[in-house]
Amino acid sequence: MELNDKILVAGGGGFIGGALIALLRKQGYRDLRAVDVKPIDEWYQRFDDVENLSLDLNLRENCDTAAEGAAEIYNFAANMGGMGFIESNKALCMLSVLINTHMLQAALKHGTVRRYFYASSACVYNGDKQKTFEAPSLKEEDAYPALAEDGYGWEKLFSERMCRHFMEDFGLTTRVARFHNVYGPWGTWFGGREKAPAAICRKVIEAKVSGKHEIEIWGSGVQTRSFMFIDDCTDGIQRIMNSEILEPINLGSSEAVTINQLVDIAEDIAGIKLKRNYDLTAPKGVNGRNSDNTLIQKYLHWEPGTPLRAGLEKTYRWIYDQYMARERGEAGVVREAGIVR
Ligand code: NAD
Repeated sequence: MELNDKILVAGGGGFIGGALIALLRKQGYRDLRAVDVKPIDEWYQRFDDVENLSLDLNLRENCDTAAEGAAEIYNFAANMGGMGFIESNKALCMLSVLINTHMLQAALKHGTVRRYFYASSACVYNGDKQKTFEAPSLKEEDAYPALAEDGYGWEKLFSERMCRHFMEDFGLTTRVARFHNVYGPWGTWFGGREKAPAAICRKVIEAKVSGKHEIEIWGSGVQTRSFMFIDDCTDGIQRIMNSEILEPINLGSSEAVTINQLVDIAEDIAGIKLKRNYDLTAPKGVNGRNSDNTLIQKYLHWEPGTPLRAGLEKTYRWIYDQYMARERGEAGVVREAGIVR
């Protein structure tokens, strides 16, 4: 890639898209286009030297506009959130199929696109392989026979295959990574779409600030997960995009923890201990999930390496600042539609 090649980041107003735009700018790319359905003043990160477009990419004509002249496309645009969101918005999650379908077609139409990246998810993995709490490490082959997360996971699995067939049948170079829980500054931390690390940091901060030293935890607390820091995610995205890896590949941390251990770390950062109340009726997802990084190690001799403690510390500090800004009635950096501050 030349530094003046045009790069499209779809979903550029969101968490990972915004972080990738920030990184590309730092690397010296000068012709960046970010597209998101949200009004521009609600984007998580926004840069004046980037072409920022507010477009609904469900629509084919908007994908055509977005892809025009692009040498590379990164597609992060999707309806998504933590378990609380995806368990109760299955149809909405599946409708993201329109975005990737139309974007692939637009990429082909323009003929300038040399590489296309699709953001898939660990939610494609077969649910039967995630029943134990012992953090089963999921290998890429564990997506089949298919029994993906209802709604969101099936859309991701379908869209992965569409990328593969656009490559096989139409010669479009596509790359697909299956992200495992990404967290970090500039991520959603309230409003219903936040994931466990941000939600737990926020709840610990709430307890500290209010003096009510209790925390509500979704599920029994013994579910296992791994969490990837955002800098590892953007690093991995670029490594995979520039690789010759043809099949969908895990992009996740292999440092598995229980939700209780995640709370331990957040408490330790905050310097408090909380009474834990477990809500067994709340959405909690699969019992155990970890990223098996054998394949990414084989191809790239690399895997996400930021220790959870280090990444969570940065995330906690960032959410703390956001939280306090909101308490003071100042406009927070991360905005959610409909919330007036
Ligand atoms: P995000 O919600 O912050 O970003 C997604 C962005 O897509 C949002 O800004 C949203 O407004 C935008 N979008 C939704 N519908 C759109 C439309 N019709 N047209 C244009 N833009 C639209 O989420 P994120 O964490 O940055 O996730 C980025 C991608 O990575 C998504 O595809 C997601 O499914 C995938 N992923 C994320 C994680 C994670 O832990 N964050 C894990 C697995 C997969």
